[in-house]
Amino acid sequence: MSNWEQNVRRAVPYTPGEQPQESGVIKLNTNENPFPPSPGVRKILDDFDTDRLRLYPQPDCSALITAIAERYGVKHSQVFVGVGSDDVLSMAFMTFFNSDKPILFPDVTYSFYDVWADVYKIPYKTCPLRGDFTIDPDDYKQPNGGIVFPNPNAPTGVCESVDMIEDVVKANPSSVVIIDEAYIDFGGESCLRLTEKYDNLLVVQTFSKSRSMAGMRIGFAIGSERLIKYMNDVKFSVNSYTMNTLTLLCGRAAVQDEEYFNKCCGEIINIREYSKEKLKDLGFELTDSKSNFLFAKHKTAKARDIFESLKERKIYVRYWDKQRISDYLRITVGTRGQMDKLFCALKDILKGWTL
Ligand code: PMP
Repeated sequence: MSNWEQNVRRAVPYTPGEQPQESGVIKLNTNENPFPPSPGVRKILDDFDTDRLRLYPQPDCSALITAIAERYGVKHSQVFVGVGSDDVLSMAFMTFFNSDKPILFPDVTYSFYDVWADVYKIPYKTCPLRGDFTIDPDDYKQPNGGIVFPNPNAPTGVCESVDMIEDVVKANPSSVVIIDEAYIDFGGESCLRLTEKYDNLLVVQTFSKSRSMAGMRIGFAIGSERLIKYMNDVKFSVNSYTMNTLTLLCGRAAVQDEEYFNKCCGEIINIREYSKEKLKDLGFELTDSKSNFLFAKHKTAKARDIFESLKERKIYVRYWDKQRISDYLRITVGTRGQMDKLFCALKDILKGWTL
């Protein structure tokens, strides 16, 4: 090994879902929204004067932050924005998880958490979910250097109550608790209101799912003014211009279109519930997902085999060969037409195997 390599920061990177480039694919593998962003976003793009790109963007992102603060009824100083919620979460890990004690998160959860913990050299400990994939709040009452989990959880879709989250936050006044609400707009109850009562609670959300803007990269966090100030101090010590001018404008337009947002989320919820029944008819068992994806296990067929057969038919879903979840497929909720094609393909695949 060359000498300089001894000093390299080693990282085992997160593996994002595939983004196939071939045509005719039904893409149900990365929880994107099948509907377009708000028409207000289209208008910003159509009217945008490219001369504005000569200038740096607003470093404080205030146009977007003001719109988010108004929408969620909080102060401007309680909002932090970043390049997708991955950026926001990574900044929050860097800012708040700085103890010798381990941070805690579930054994089955978003697979970026252990990656950030490793790259930032944060000790961590996973707490096993119960058999039904719910969180036992008592697991989070041991000494720790911070707590993070998604609600609804990923990839299970299981949603915890605000009371359960309050129980965890209340029991940990000496730690920051991060609740990753990437999927909260699809039927779960947000714990945002708890941020008024607890200054150690940070709630993170994204425009990638419920606002159909995964390609634009917008995420945000809401918490006490003190938490947000600490995050900004770290952010401005790393990179002042994280959000570009166009993104700030498009994000503001999206968050101001409440009617379109409600319509799209309602539609996804309807298709999800319809899809649950269809999958049950095909012999799948499912969690009661409150997100824009389904977490499904077939009674007899192997998840990996179904995953591969679907892929041959250009239908992409997600599969992990990991403990506790290797029997499951995670299927993003697409349009009604896409889901019907999926059910047809599944029927065909499963028929061949059970003959
Ligand atoms: N949290 C969870 C639980 C997720 O599944 C994702 C999507 N991969 C994210 C955060 C990050 O999403 P984004 O960076 O697109 O906001």
